[in-house]
Amino acid sequence: MEVVTLSPRGYCRGVVDAVKEMQKIAKDPSIPRPVHVLGLVVHNEKIVRDFEDLGLKTLNDEGKTRLELLDEIDGGTVVFTAHGVADAVYEKAEKKGLSIIDTTCKDVKKSQNAVKRHLEEGYDVLFVGKPDHPESETVKSYGDGVHVIESEEDIEALDIGNGRIALTNQTTMSLYDIYHLGERARARFPHLKIIDEICDATRSRQEAVKNQPAVDHCFVVGDRRSNNSKKLVETARKARIPASLVESVEDLSVEHLKELGKVSVTSGASTPSQLTKEVVRFLENFDTADPATHETKSLVRKHNLFR
Ligand code: SF4
Repeated sequence: MEVVTLSPRGYCRGVVDAVKEMQKIAKDPSIPRPVHVLGLVVHNEKIVRDFEDLGLKTLNDEGKTRLELLDEIDGGTVVFTAHGVADAVYEKAEKKGLSIIDTTCKDVKKSQNAVKRHLEEGYDVLFVGKPDHPESETVKSYGDGVHVIESEEDIEALDIGNGRIALTNQTTMSLYDIYHLGERARARFPHLKIIDEICDATRSRQEAVKNQPAVDHCFVVGDRRSNNSKKLVETARKARIPASLVESVEDLSVEHLKELGKVSVTSGASTPSQLTKEVVRFLENFDTADPATHETKSLVRKHNLFR
């Protein structure tokens, strides 16, 4: 099968830095044990499992905030993930006497500082994001002036008396979301100030998807919990390219592949490259007439995170 690999794809700088830091922690006996990671270090189940095997325990419960999860740690070290945490989480960890390692991505910090600054200047801030995402959790903690929105209905439901309103976003949303919701919000609030905080990694991967050559289908390799991976699928579909999310080669359907001639492959910012390479190799070898090329079994067991 003909396969176009889109570029850039895969790990972003923020994920590389967070994963490197985690590898350093795993090897450094001077860091107080136990080590707990508050939330998923990156939104990829396979990476999380690899770190669990190295003794770094992940605390993740979708019904609990990071502040609540901290109650489960009594000593040792806490690692804050690339998605950042609220100031209250930082303060509570300090009060508990925990050693703190903060791997918050610089782009996330920049976006969160923009929210803080605008609140201080008297704005209400509309934050385009997933309500249950850690980035939204952090900005909501800044006060009632932050309104997390993800749909037109959310904009219609807003009741804000303030004449100063700014709109910004979670770093991994799609360019379409920001444009579309920004326009809707501006129709309601004509003086709206829009601050685009989509990070460069997210933007460049979405642009590569949007501007790709004509293909029958675009495969995005990524975890189902990874917002930036899901947004790559949405971006392709908005550009009228059929697309789907696959976590590994095991999610490919042979019957579906038989209908395709030319496909493209990209991957989310937290996807180990071995998984993407395996998907690419499989698709390149795929021959409708040769059942020997139809075995969708992943041989990736351990994720050598930088290979
Ligand atoms: S996707 Fe963007 S904001 Fe998120 S970790 Fe990567 S570079 Fe940072």
